[in-house]
Amino acid sequence: MKLTSYGAAEEVTGSCHLIETSNHKVLFDCGLIQGRRKDELRNHDPFPFNPAELDAVVLSHAHIDHCGRLPMLIDQGFTGKIHCHDATADLVQILLKDSANLNARDVEYRNRKRKRAGKPLLTPLYNQEDVENTLDKLAPMQYLTSVKVAPGVSIKLYDAGHILGSAMVEITLVEDDETRTVVFSGDLGHRGSPILRDFSCLQKADLVLMESTYGNRLHRDWSETVKEVQEIASALSSTRGNILIPAFSVGRSQMILYTMARYFKEWDLERWKIFLDSPMAIRACEVYLKHTALYDEQAAAFYKKNGPLLSMPNLTFSQTADQSRAINAMQTGAIVIAGSGMCTGGRIIHHLKHNLWRADAHVIIAGYQAHGTLGRKLVDGKKTVKIWGEKIVVRATIHTVGGLSAHADQQGMMDWYASFEDTPPVLLVHGEVKAMQVLADRLTSELGARARAAQPGKSTDLLALDKFGR
Ligand SMILES: [Zn+2]
Repeated sequence: MKLTSYGAAEEVTGSCHLIETSNHKVLFDCGLIQGRRKDELRNHDPFPFNPAELDAVVLSHAHIDHCGRLPMLIDQGFTGKIHCHDATADLVQILLKDSANLNARDVEYRNRKRKRAGKPLLTPLYNQEDVENTLDKLAPMQYLTSVKVAPGVSIKLYDAGHILGSAMVEITLVEDDETRTVVFSGDLGHRGSPILRDFSCLQKADLVLMESTYGNRLHRDWSETVKEVQEIASALSSTRGNILIPAFSVGRSQMILYTMARYFKEWDLERWKIFLDSPMAIRACEVYLKHTALYDEQAAAFYKKNGPLLSMPNLTFSQTADQSRAINAMQTGAIVIAGSGMCTGGRIIHHLKHNLWRADAHVIIAGYQAHGTLGRKLVDGKKTVKIWGEKIVVRATIHTVGGLSAHADQQGMMDWYASFEDTPPVLLVHGEVKAMQVLADRLTSELGARARAAQPGKSTDLLALDKFGR
């Protein structure tokens, strides 16, 4: 019995972990590598195992860095089932189709350049047909139900509170007279997030495989974030200019809409026209509205009292390009939520182009902005930015709201781990090396855990865990 991390080992994306018994193999996540171009090229590499030999795949959640290479797995011979939560199955559909589109466009753009340079042309990672073949293999399941995914390998999913349907996986392995339990955290959510429940805590594991994205960071409290938004809302109470909110389509957009619906009266939102200007976010909203049983207490109470979580009388879902363009004609009175979250593309770019130069416009940045992105430039207070080669003077007011991360912070991870009995050994994945080191040190010094970073391609013998880290 062994566990090997082939992705998200000493990095943040490309989640991919293989568990093997003598005769069976189950893969946990099969995510896209995202980030620098050089790293993204590794997505084209063949898998370091034979996909045809896998019995099954288990998916922790729908984010593309956890599911984005599934179509390639099938193309390369995988014939089994992909087990995941019911809501994840719904979201994976949206995200994989979008991923195929993005990839096709990216390859087209790059190939135009490569052709001119006489370089060999690239082929897309997969197309819509590959995505359909992948969706056929999804085997949706519920939390807290045990499912046998291969002889001697059973899994049970628990709510991870990260996005709708996100799961941590309890894996029970039985071979000869030996039984081992491995718990894979998936991505742990940020406790207190709107709509979602807080992550579950488990007690028993022989080995813990744990994410560490924010292993070296502490977030602000949710209550403080709401206060911060409250302040922005009152600052905007006398304004009539447009308000733009760049947001990721899945998770963030729904969280923002629900928060607006909750504080509709207090924030005097009635006088605005609110637009969700993203076909992908609109599809994700349908999934969020469908899975009412997954809501936290507050959202469930809101739903019982007011009906669908995201509905406001002045909210328009703008589906078509024409509908989106029509918003551009509005000089005042619009709140526009659109992708992409870091202003690197998507419909938000059009709205920024039409509004950044207006002194009465406002942009609310409610998520992490990577270096080099337009969103980051706005947060950094740049006075001019370039959009499609055109220089735009920034006269709009830029507001930033912190604390909206979908990931647990260091304290969240510490608390999650502390719920296990007998301090099981812990392998850290899905984080920068620096963040992992800080978290590993704290786990060891405060909780006495044997913690280390998983190394890419290096296996951990599940029958020799007493030697782990020694
Ligand atoms: Zn995630």
